[in-house]
Amino acid sequence: MTGVAVLGATGTIGVNTLDVVRRHAEQYHIIALTAHSQYERLAVQCEEFNPDYAVMVDEAAADKLQLIFTQKGISTKVLHGAEALEKVVRLDDVDVVMAAIVGAAGLQSSLAAAQAGKKILLANKESLVMSGKLFMDQVRDHGAVLLPIDSEHNAIFQCMPSNYNQGLDEIGVHKILLTGSGGPFRELPMADFSNVTPEQAIAHPNWSMGKKISVDSATMMNKGLELIEACWLFATDLNKIEIVLHPQSIVHSMVEYIDGSIIAQLGQPDMRTPIAHALAWPDRIESGVSMLDLVSMPDLEFVEPDMERYPCLRLAKEAMQLGGTATTILNAANEIAVQAFLDKKLNFIDIAKTVEYVLEQIASRTADSIETVVDEDKRARMVANEFIETTTMKTGAMH
Ligand code: NAD
Ligand code: MG
Repeated sequence: MTGVAVLGATGTIGVNTLDVVRRHAEQYHIIALTAHSQYERLAVQCEEFNPDYAVMVDEAAADKLQLIFTQKGISTKVLHGAEALEKVVRLDDVDVVMAAIVGAAGLQSSLAAAQAGKKILLANKESLVMSGKLFMDQVRDHGAVLLPIDSEHNAIFQCMPSNYNQGLDEIGVHKILLTGSGGPFRELPMADFSNVTPEQAIAHPNWSMGKKISVDSATMMNKGLELIEACWLFATDLNKIEIVLHPQSIVHSMVEYIDGSIIAQLGQPDMRTPIAHALAWPDRIESGVSMLDLVSMPDLEFVEPDMERYPCLRLAKEAMQLGGTATTILNAANEIAVQAFLDKKLNFIDIAKTVEYVLEQIASRTADSIETVVDEDKRARMVANEFIETTTMKTGAMH
């Protein structure tokens, strides 16, 4: 039996992970489930999977969860607080950690999984964006196994030989072709961007995802974060990665080799495929995803992204080029701006403006420790909030 901890169990990735695990109860045993405050959903999951531990980051929600457990006679132990996330990750019984918390809140627990030498299924791309080098060093130093859940990176991983960490030049990779759908506003006239509502932004044409990553997909900051993520995962720099818009989301990314071959991974846009792949790796298990019907599939298109339409993509590239804490700042400013947009305090087009402003205000430093990363993350959030306050005062109430 493989022991699994699912961090962010109540989110889109968490729920999909449990769906895959449910199909292989003889192989996987859930040791811990965690969530921020959705105690009702977590209670239902605990009733089904009977983990040893349930973590609620929010203390009041933990009390409510405990009450439900007592009433229903569920023996799962309830812990609360962010430190409890790290505690369950380190448990001896935990072999695999699904890191599926959204945003910077996932950093410490993802790092703890690396330090404990676990098999990490990394959905929380923000940890790599915030602290790429430090994170990869921990993975290497503690013999952890890092497997990407992001569909593109999982696809790239599948298209590479197992010795890819020797260096992409050594294994004959010419380029990584990172695909992206272009989000819901790929064809929206740019003049209409300032009127875009959160409801429109989170309605992704192909994927069903949490709100933050859905907005990131609409601005294409998601692809920017993924570009940075790919640089760290595959130890390469920006000029070996090309972003290709592929509106159908059937090809999940490709690797081009110097002999002219391109190897692609195709599949339904359903996160259970990368989750099942990483969970069972190097074996394969059934995921619940239906097979692609190649014959009745729509035509597949591949186009170059319009950088003017997606300023966040440019900002992510610039931050990666700057290096150090610039990507930490990018990520923090983006999180604050996306939340303000979701709260209808900020216009859609002002998400990129916030990120650009914060990157201009704070100089990049060497990301020499996690403390530095955490400090810079805080600082960037403060500056982003100040910018949003003044912008809101100028533009008035939203929508
Ligand atoms: P989601 O919003 O649906 O779920 C987020 C989860 O994180 C929830 O369980 C929530 O309780 C937990 N959480 C939120 N704030 C927290 C905090 N402060 N402390 C502890 N836990 C907290 O998000 P999602 O779409 O499942 O995405 C999760 C991660 O996976 C993100 O990093 C995202 O970029 C990445 N990802 C998601 C998809 C997708 O299809 N949804 C695809 C690729 C990558
Ligand atoms: Mg992705």
